Amino acid sequence: ARISRITKAETTCNYCAVGCNFDLYGKDGKVLGVRPSEPDEAPANDFSTCVKGKFGYDFVNSPNRLETPLIKEDGEFREASWDEALDVVYDRISEIQEEHGERSVAVTSSSKATNEENYLNQKFARQVLQTPHVDNCARLCHSSTVAGLQQTVGYGAMTNRINEDIGETDCYLITGSNTTSSHPVLATRIKQNAADGADLIVFDPRKIGVGEHASQYVQTKPGTDIAWLNGMVRHIIDQDLHDEEFIEQRTKNFEELKEKVDSFTPERVEELTGVPPEELKTAAETIATADTCIFGWAMGMTQHAHGTRNVLAITNLALVTGNLGKPRAGLSPFRGQNNVQGGGGDMGPAPHTLPGYQDLSNEDVREKFADEWDGVKPPKDFGLFLPQQYEAILDGDLHGMYIMGENPVLSEPDINEAEKALRELDFLVVQDLFLTETAEYADVVLPAASAAEKSGTFTNTERRIQRVRPAIEPRGDAKSDLDILCALAERFGYDWGYDSASDVMDEISRLVPIYGGVSYDRLEEKPTGLQWPCRDEDDPGTPYLYEEEFNHDDGLARFVPADYAGPVEMPDEEYPLTLSTGRVLYHWHTGTMTRRVEALMHHVPESYVTIHPEMAEKLGVEDDEYVRVESRRGSIVVRAHVEEQSDPGVVFIPMHFAQGAVNELTAHELDPTSHIPEYKVSSVKITPL
Ligand code: SF4
Repeated sequence: ARISRITKAETTCNYCAVGCNFDLYGKDGKVLGVRPSEPDEAPANDFSTCVKGKFGYDFVNSPNRLETPLIKEDGEFREASWDEALDVVYDRISEIQEEHGERSVAVTSSSKATNEENYLNQKFARQVLQTPHVDNCARLCHSSTVAGLQQTVGYGAMTNRINEDIGETDCYLITGSNTTSSHPVLATRIKQNAADGADLIVFDPRKIGVGEHASQYVQTKPGTDIAWLNGMVRHIIDQDLHDEEFIEQRTKNFEELKEKVDSFTPERVEELTGVPPEELKTAAETIATADTCIFGWAMGMTQHAHGTRNVLAITNLALVTGNLGKPRAGLSPFRGQNNVQGGGGDMGPAPHTLPGYQDLSNEDVREKFADEWDGVKPPKDFGLFLPQQYEAILDGDLHGMYIMGENPVLSEPDINEAEKALRELDFLVVQDLFLTETAEYADVVLPAASAAEKSGTFTNTERRIQRVRPAIEPRGDAKSDLDILCALAERFGYDWGYDSASDVMDEISRLVPIYGGVSYDRLEEKPTGLQWPCRDEDDPGTPYLYEEEFNHDDGLARFVPADYAGPVEMPDEEYPLTLSTGRVLYHWHTGTMTRRVEALMHHVPESYVTIHPEMAEKLGVEDDEYVRVESRRGSIVVRAHVEEQSDPGVVFIPMHFAQGAVNELTAHELDPTSHIPEYKVSSVKITPL
């Protein structure tokens, strides 16, 4: 008889971008459990994980995993062989491209997948299909961070380290981040350091978990961040607390900034944001007089129709106080998914940039790619950004779509429109672990392996490239996204010839200068990973950015003044409440994984709306009863949680559920620079059932 044995893989968590390392144990095709790595091999987490990392792996063992390809016939799925399914994909996409042109097909990549898979996804779009329409879910979470930071400091990434910088700074400004729920292990560093005396300033419309540990918590009106950030900069300059030497030597456009923020007096700021002048001044003075300060944010800052300007405003504050280019300071966008920094950003599955943020219009760069890609140059012009793709379907310009590992039926804003678009498509392929809400709309579903079943790398929020290793074999006939992409490319006549994920990384390192020194051999030697930029094999990587110069030709950072903009939709008589959306500790994004984990569902089994007790009384709503929440886009029924978390006029619904899906309610307004939607502020009304 075959004796099965327990296998162990040293790997990286597949939930959030903190990038905790741990040993994952498996046996007989099932994951058994997780044990954190030794502290010296786990730079982000030492010896801890959060509840999702420790107990959230059960989705891998779910009986609902897809094990064979599925083809839809007469509205019903039937099981199919890989050969049959790939033939249908090839035939239908070829027909569509012949009839409507190469650009009539769009590809979606996934920040949950590895760097190598994301690189190949955009290669499949650009080389094989010759379509410029490739994008990924980073568009929906931190694209405004990337756009803002590229303009000001150069790289669209966190500038510092989790442990040595965030864990050791003298002061924090945390805004728009429910850090204890969304990045729990990173939040532990902040809480410990605050308990040891660091100043922790939290500006947020909701009194979220991290706010409970704050030395100063300030409640703001949703969507008004540019005003209080500009107001802080003005007060710091007014009080002569700005870092003159840093500004003089390392930045440009200071006078322009000074002029722009001049109208943001404490009184005007109070009018716009609800922040009392004394609170604003205290916070600004604490930040300006601290030796070092970390500026941390997440989607509360980015998911606005003015998200990029929010990021410009917080960067101006960091620059004016000289908090860049040195240890224990810096800009810390807390990236969301496990691999959104690497897969969603660095690998270039985006319609406006090639891998490594290289310029699509640069002929030398396109030639370099063509040399590696059998002479095929990537399309030169911009493709459609993710939310624009759904508009293009409804306009009759897009006819086919290939979605790898994403669930737009829950994640797109105004999902009634997104569903309508998916119904209009001539052909949809979805590649995933489960028959997700989006896969239900597909013509062909391809079964993918989970992170526990494949090899690759993830890049965490501190730009650290870390290994992912398989603990078990893929379920049934499921394959890694990498293997599926190679098989698809082959069907279209491209034999990519990779023997392993390591070969793909070698190609990435040849094409992407910031990954130029990354190889699997080096990652084996250095289990703590490599932080980019890592330009050649002798480069040890870059723990914190901008020590010598910023990533612009002249080495200087730019102040880019942020004009004030508030929410697109304001409460009115018909829809008098402001809805905010976000994450909870026990779930992750559209819940495709966590909603299949009993231990997590036990804690938060369904969607809900948080209502302030005063508002609940006014509306006649009792705690725990079901209510209807309506916006101009749609209506959902969810359970009421009556609690004092925000201003009485603000309510909150988590983003993770299919029943009571919050994006039925959110608006489709986009930031003009990054094309991120305004998820964070919508007007709604609530009625008891
Ligand atoms: Fe995973 Fe993030 Fe939790 Fe770490 S903090 S275990 S990376 S979900």
